[in-house]
Amino acid sequence: MFAAVGAAHRSLWLRPRQNEEPAVVEIKNERLIADLRRLAEFGKYKTGVDRVAFSPADVASRDWLKERLGEIGLLVKQDRLGNVYGAWPDVDRALLIGSHSDTVPRGGWLDGAMGVIYALEVARAFRESGTGVPIGVDVVAFQDEEGTYLPLLGSKSLAGLLSEGDVGHAHRSDGEALTSAIASAGFSGDPIVADRHRLVGFLEGHIEQGPRLLAAGRKIGVVTGFAGTRRMSIKAEGRADHAGTTPMTMRRDAGRAIFAFASWVDSAFSELSGAETVWNIGSATLKPGAPNVVPSRAELALEFRDGDLGRLERMESAVHDKAAGLQRETGLAVSVDVTTRVPPTTTNSKLAEELAEAAADLGEQPMQLASGAGHDCMIIGQTMPAAMFFVPSIGGRSHDIDEDTAEEDIVLGCRVLARAVERLISNELP
Ligand SMILES: [Zn+2]
Repeated sequence: MFAAVGAAHRSLWLRPRQNEEPAVVEIKNERLIADLRRLAEFGKYKTGVDRVAFSPADVASRDWLKERLGEIGLLVKQDRLGNVYGAWPDVDRALLIGSHSDTVPRGGWLDGAMGVIYALEVARAFRESGTGVPIGVDVVAFQDEEGTYLPLLGSKSLAGLLSEGDVGHAHRSDGEALTSAIASAGFSGDPIVADRHRLVGFLEGHIEQGPRLLAAGRKIGVVTGFAGTRRMSIKAEGRADHAGTTPMTMRRDAGRAIFAFASWVDSAFSELSGAETVWNIGSATLKPGAPNVVPSRAELALEFRDGDLGRLERMESAVHDKAAGLQRETGLAVSVDVTTRVPPTTTNSKLAEELAEAAADLGEQPMQLASGAGHDCMIIGQTMPAAMFFVPSIGGRSHDIDEDTAEEDIVLGCRVLARAVERLISNELP
């Protein structure tokens, strides 16, 4: 995918570094924080934000953002999904920066929103600097990254990875169709698709949503890649019997089989895992589900993530082998239904290096880390060079109203992004 970058663009990344010049753009800290606080007013819920995609708060927040982007002279577009795009005028090429502005229900004020306001502030600072730039700075606020209707909806559309059928079939957990949500939101306009002739790459700033930066005492985490994910449901079929009268040796107990599988997971995965492997049994169901009935059906939902495709394959094989073994031992039907296979991806190493050097320019030694969560950057990276960085989340908390980041860390992250943009666009200057 990166081979598709034109030679002219490649030379941009490979050009030897010029002498470090002082920053030409100035991030205005108070304005940055004030805009973040203003955005958090849309859908404010206690100390957090409830601004799910296509809600009235989401629609209003996008109108507000369009005004801010228009004020700084960007050409503002919005498509029928709600994606907001501010294009730098009068340039043939641009670097795209941004994130998503939708939230999970009763979520935090920074997840996604921070990266959007970073993009606004960085573009604004470059507009104010009055410096002629050969490469502009485009700003995007993606829609429905959180998957109220379809996970990573906006970035998939921008990357050209979304079909009309995908839009037609998507619906919320309560059944409401995405197409109805679009109609009620009043969004219109053709899909905004990334212009590959224009865009040289994508950068996203985001909160970490985990504890690793804090634990390491670092302020900036440069994302090396995104973990791949496997999700599967493991089912056992037995027979319902009276739990008081059926001897233990005569039972066809689906529950017992599934619990044996569950206790095997921890020990087997501990052997197979690497430093960043994570796994979770997120649900367990027994049917019919009564204390005096032997379970006839049992089901577990298992998920695991890792950055190494080979390891994911080995873990999945082990699951299949264990299920086959359980079937032989118990005589019950034990099956594995793999519902999700998302391969691990890496960020663009040149762009990631620019982010790391931008942090170093500001005196911060960045941490390199893989992301266990999916992000818009992962999708955009399928169509152009893309990289991402994190700032620390207090207590590692996210997807909750307690989500927060120290103000000085928020400001530092924005300065790192501005510096990275500056390095990338100024290297083209003669
Ligand atoms: Zn996010």
